[in-house]
Amino acid sequence: MWYTNNVSYGIKERRKNMTLKGIKLRIYPNLEQQHQIIDNFGCCRFVWNRMLNMQIERYKNSPDSKFLNGFAMNILLKQLKYEYPWLKQVDSTSLQDTCETLAVTYQRFFKRLGGYPKFKSRKYPKKSYKSKMVTNNIRLVNNHYLKLPKLGIMKFKGRLTTGKIKSATIKLSPSGKFYCVLLTECENQTPFDKTNKNVGLDMGVADLMITSNGMKYPTIRFDKINHKKLHYWQKRYARRRAQAIALVAQDKHNKVLLPRELSDFKNVEKARLMIAKYNEKIANQRNNYLHNLTKQLVEQYDVIKIEDLKTKNLMKNHKLARAIANASWREIRRQLEYKCAWYGKQLVIVNPRKTSQICSNCGFDDGKHTLDIRKWTCPNCGMNHDRDINAAKNILAA
Ligand SMILES: [Zn+2]
Repeated sequence: MWYTNNVSYGIKERRKNMTLKGIKLRIYPNLEQQHQIIDNFGCCRFVWNRMLNMQIERYKNSPDSKFLNGFAMNILLKQLKYEYPWLKQVDSTSLQDTCETLAVTYQRFFKRLGGYPKFKSRKYPKKSYKSKMVTNNIRLVNNHYLKLPKLGIMKFKGRLTTGKIKSATIKLSPSGKFYCVLLTECENQTPFDKTNKNVGLDMGVADLMITSNGMKYPTIRFDKINHKKLHYWQKRYARRRAQAIALVAQDKHNKVLLPRELSDFKNVEKARLMIAKYNEKIANQRNNYLHNLTKQLVEQYDVIKIEDLKTKNLMKNHKLARAIANASWREIRRQLEYKCAWYGKQLVIVNPRKTSQICSNCGFDDGKHTLDIRKWTCPNCGMNHDRDINAAKNILAA
């Protein structure tokens, strides 16, 4: 499965005819390797928090002092390793990457692109670290095994890569599955054949996507499809958690047992894992649906026009359906952006002004239509319009 997560995995063109791609593999570490990976998460978190604290203290002591960049923090890392020798037991490049990511987070904050870096908690459900490629330390062995620094070889499942490996990001999902995202430099994808067809897309809530030639792609509520099983475990989790909290409070009062945490209760942990599993399933199904949609679009059309969604978000609504639609639109745009670049197609972002009130046939401005008006007739040319298809046609014409 092709996978691009955030800015750092995005498509940046390094060399001509070369693209960076993230390839997500499921990996199967043994118990010892699993412990090593979890230790590595801990060490990266420790370095992150230490460095962040150091930057904050430095600023407090002398606000004029210059901010330490990734390179400077990597030099301090050496000192930190003397102080805490157990840091040497994990992959050193991952600790360097932690410092560099912290520096990037700071720079984004200075440019007002992001918030102030936060301290990382052990309880944060998304866990990952990144190993950099240094002298062949990340490689495929016999095409069936993956060799990772400090971990050794392990089985993996996923599409093989032919490109040059740049880095590996090891992740643990909330449901307990291990993944590795290999960042590789590959030759450009062969572009799709030109079809000489253009399309405008309107995004909606009931119908996720409406094309200018009248096709409607429905919103599929994968959360509703999986609701029964998810709800079953959510109820159990809530009850078991409440019982466990009561027990811990009792222990504290009687001082009989050692202090316990919620994760020490096997039945609570089981329920939490099941919830994570179903949430992951919902996310996977939704992603799969969107990937199929965008792939089809890129195959069928040469130029794809979509609205700039920033203005559309002004229609704020606290309903879940709206929140899901918003997330799906962002994802569709992100996928179209990189897929169009890969397959030699063009994506045009259009200003969504008045797309729902102008007649696509004669250009007459009929004034505002409230959201409940799904169909209308143009008073100028007498054409019957479906609200969404008309909007999609306007987007195409823009
Ligand atoms: Zn008209």
